[in-house]
Amino acid sequence: MNAKNPSRGSDIRPLVAKLVLLQETELEIRRLSHELGGVDRRLAELEAGLREEQKALDIVRERLQEIGARNRSLESDLKDIQARIERSQEKLRSVKTNKEYQSGLKEIEDLKAMAARVEDEMLALLEESEAAQRDGKEREAALKTRAAEVEAEKTTVLAEAQGWRNRLADLERRSRELSVEVPETVLARYRRVQAVKKDGVAVAPVSGAVCRGCNVNIPPQMYNELQRMDRLQNCPNCERIIFWKEEEDRSE
Ligand SMILES: [Zn+2]
Repeated sequence: MNAKNPSRGSDIRPLVAKLVLLQETELEIRRLSHELGGVDRRLAELEAGLREEQKALDIVRERLQEIGARNRSLESDLKDIQARIERSQEKLRSVKTNKEYQSGLKEIEDLKAMAARVEDEMLALLEESEAAQRDGKEREAALKTRAAEVEAEKTTVLAEAQGWRNRLADLERRSRELSVEVPETVLARYRRVQAVKKDGVAVAPVSGAVCRGCNVNIPPQMYNELQRMDRLQNCPNCERIIFWKEEEDRSE
């Protein structure tokens, strides 16, 4: 019946096929570009993870240095205190009065208490230092393993990205070739819709009277016209260029 319609224009099937192919090519370009954008993010994540682990190790090492410095200072304090104790004991042997003797004893007692406090701190530092050394060794080993893993993953990611870049270059060439084969006015119409669609889909099939771009029903009159496949139409709802998808209609 449609074949006899006097208003019938040229068969748009080859043009629709070309537009669909152009769109498939460009959607693949979008997808690959997105993947390539993810590559830089992934590489940055890998580096950041490694830096975090390095930072944690640096903190442990810094603490070990602090402990070392504090310990040296305490050792020197302890030597001083011990020297003072010896001097006080020396002095004690030559005191004249009981009062002087008592005060000398008290001085030695205080100095010994001071020395004990220093020794307690040194002991605590020794324990902390041993724990920090164990922690540092574990972190160092983990970091070495992680660095090797990151290096391997970076190599894989970069190789994959190179594959995508090659494929992207092919697709871009293909897209340029196809664009040239589509009449300028149709291409402009396609580009206009494409520019406002977030999913990049400018051409959508209609099957079962439903636009597959927006899943909204096509008015019956328009659906009848669509089936003639003699001119391009736009979906009244989503504005996409629509075409009747014969195969699916028949299978229903
Ligand atoms: Zn639609």
